[in-house]
Amino acid sequence: VALCEAEEAPLARSRPRVLEPRFNWTLFWQFLRPHLLVLGAAIVLALGAALVNVQIPLLLGQLVEIVAKYTRDHAGSFLTESRSLSTHLLLLYGLQGLLTFGYLVLLSRIGERMAVDLRRALFCNLLRQDIEFFDAKKTGQLVSRLTTDVQEFKSSFKLVISQGLRSCTQVAGCLVSLSMLSTRLTLLLMVATPALMGVGTLMGSALRKLSRQCQEQVARATGVADEALGNVRTVRAFAMEQREEERYGAELEGSRCKAEELGRGIALFQGLSNIAFNCMVLGTLFVGGSLVAGQQLTGGDLMSFLVASQTVQRSMANLSILFGQVVRGLSAGARVFEYMTLSPGIPLSGGCSLPREHLRGSITFHNVSFSYPCRPGFPVLRDFSLTLPPGKIVALVGQSGGGKTTVASLLERFYDPTVGMVTLDGQDLRTLDPSWLRSQVIGFISQEPVLFGTTIMENIRFGKVDASDEEVYAAAREANAHEFITSFPEGYNTVVGEFRHGVLHGPGGPHGRECRGAGMRSWPQGRPDRDCGLEGQRRLSGDRDHAGVVQAQAGCRDRSVAGIHMIHDVGTLQSSPRQPPRPDQKHRESISFSLWVLSFNERCFHFYPQGWFWLSTSLRRIVVMAHGRVCEVGTHEELLKKGGLYSELIRRQALDTPPPEAAQ
Ligand code: ADP
Ligand code: MG
Repeated sequence: VALCEAEEAPLARSRPRVLEPRFNWTLFWQFLRPHLLVLGAAIVLALGAALVNVQIPLLLGQLVEIVAKYTRDHAGSFLTESRSLSTHLLLLYGLQGLLTFGYLVLLSRIGERMAVDLRRALFCNLLRQDIEFFDAKKTGQLVSRLTTDVQEFKSSFKLVISQGLRSCTQVAGCLVSLSMLSTRLTLLLMVATPALMGVGTLMGSALRKLSRQCQEQVARATGVADEALGNVRTVRAFAMEQREEERYGAELEGSRCKAEELGRGIALFQGLSNIAFNCMVLGTLFVGGSLVAGQQLTGGDLMSFLVASQTVQRSMANLSILFGQVVRGLSAGARVFEYMTLSPGIPLSGGCSLPREHLRGSITFHNVSFSYPCRPGFPVLRDFSLTLPPGKIVALVGQSGGGKTTVASLLERFYDPTVGMVTLDGQDLRTLDPSWLRSQVIGFISQEPVLFGTTIMENIRFGKVDASDEEVYAAAREANAHEFITSFPEGYNTVVGEFRHGVLHGPGGPHGRECRGAGMRSWPQGRPDRDCGLEGQRRLSGDRDHAGVVQAQAGCRDRSVAGIHMIHDVGTLQSSPRQPPRPDQKHRESISFSLWVLSFNERCFHFYPQGWFWLSTSLRRIVVMAHGRVCEVGTHEELLKKGGLYSELIRRQALDTPPPEAAQ
């Protein structure tokens, strides 16, 4: 029975089996070392419990012997004769219970503490990895290393110590007492048990394979649902609901077939193993009975033998389950440890920083070429040279995919250039302290602004952890977010966020089903009519407001530091429905290509309510990019003289610039 349960248990893995990492014993030892004393105590207690378990069948046999004597003779007092034996047995039961309680408590203490240490260490090291690491890895996979894998490793560890130790001791101890009880019966058992175990193990591994296929199929189905629910807007926009239903249905059907096949396998296994175990009991009784009849064995010894042989069989079944669990635990552990030893190419901190009074904020790209590490043959920036003078607002414009966001990423030092260098006031960025650069010099608003699952107040404070309330309000005012934030019933205490549920464990514990929630929209579900009115409701769904809080976040910087203040990767800037272009505005086009704004020593937030057409008047320097190259630099007026509408100019430049050729 236990064997079958183990076959059904692991409903967890979903990743394809590619190049499993090796288990890092050295690292494991480091995590285990602080718990050695407690572990020693747990092992002693577990061994003690196992030894007590070995004693129990012998005493039971003796008790049966007394019972048998009284069924024969009916003379003397059964109670007096059995009292000391029963007391002894009771004491042993009590002791066994106590020891089991003790080692389980100790083991859970070690397991939980180690799991916390592992998770903390892994999370800490993951956060330090290069951005290129995250380009290559799926967030879901990383999260599942923190959750499922740690959980699986922990439970395997606990099982190995508790069950493994106990089962081994019991098998050894019981075999000794069995052979003392009857050599012949023991020999019979030694032949029969391994043969049955062999068949069982073969069937077990076939079932395990089936169960793995089953999990993979379930994971595929989950993946389809996850994708469809997570991208429901795209699905809705293309009216693909029916298709998605069919796709999910097909995957479900596949997993049903597999699961039923597995169910039949398990049923067969369970039926056969029941027959086998019962036959073993019958066989033992039969052979043992003939020995008893021939006066070679007492009835009590036969009873002891039966109980002890059952203990051996149970323990061996446990050991075979354990074997599977150890394999799974080791590979889970290997995955947990894999990223703990990985060190990033760009450290979080270290290097020099420029003194405040000397910081001017002049940025130069010197013949920079760059390919993304995950696409090494594909040049994104090609011999890119550009000087961004201090004290100016500069916009990089160009077609989508032209490399604007990449320029921002190099400035933030998410990556280092493949060739050439980027300097800040003449200093190579690679010599500067990245944490100083990111936290003191640059405020960064990414193309897809993200809010954390907490209050707006805390979200803005993300830009400066020790900002006072007044500073937060000031930053929000500059970002034009103050007004709409205060229109929420809870104001700055409104909880927002981009909640992303990772892999959670259901009540099934480590093997419980994974529940993945899709990414959710962040603004609170208002009771709009009563609390904020229709206007409020419209705002709640507005992406621009979302961005407004993030702008405030980025603007919530130490204002006394000069230098670059802001990188705003606008992505695509279109005229806002709230701020329609003025009819007299010459350039009515909505700028439907990506656009990127840098502000040096100036705060550009207060321009934003004017929307896109602020650009036409406020930008001192516009850089037109195409295919990773600078094509044109000029003021708004200069560019207008050349090209008329921006979009036309950009389109022409993209056509005129040869696209990069991927290196072979
Ligand atoms: P823009 O911001 O101007 O739209 P990007 O800088 O985002 O352009 O992209 C420039 C090119 O680099 C595109 O071809 C894009 O596919 C590629 N690219 C962007 N980000 C990555 C990445 N993380 N890994 C690999 N290629 C990328
Ligand atoms: Mg971009």
